[in-house]
Amino acid sequence: MPTNNNGTEELIVQLRKDNEMRKRRGFTLVELMIVVLILGALAAIAIPRILGGAATAKANGCKTNIDLINSQIELYYANTGGWPADLEVVTKDTDYFPDGEPVCPVSGAVYPKALTADHRVDASGHAH
Ligand SMILES: [Zn+2]
Repeated sequence: MPTNNNGTEELIVQLRKDNEMRKRRGFTLVELMIVVLILGALAAIAIPRILGGAATAKANGCKTNIDLINSQIELYYANTGGWPADLEVVTKDTDYFPDGEPVCPVSGAVYPKALTADHRVDASGHAH
């Protein structure tokens, strides 16, 4: 039966050609759009969380700085028996701040030099 054998060979040759064509085509437009949509959805979820986390960390760093400065002011009072005249008396003293004067992590500014009536750092501009 040469006709049948010939037909099978033709079919095999055709299948091989189809297979080679599929290998060369790469991704379809729909496949690429699905990948882009998935990456976009992941970015839409991840980016606000990353940016929000950094802002929260900086605001918490500012609160920690204010608490630390107030603690060092009280330590100054315990050591000397008197309150500091202004904030720089404590923040410029390396006994109290060995790494230098603390700055606000949010704005990058130093804390106000004038102390409040109860000898605390003026944190009114740091309600982050
Ligand atoms: Zn601040």
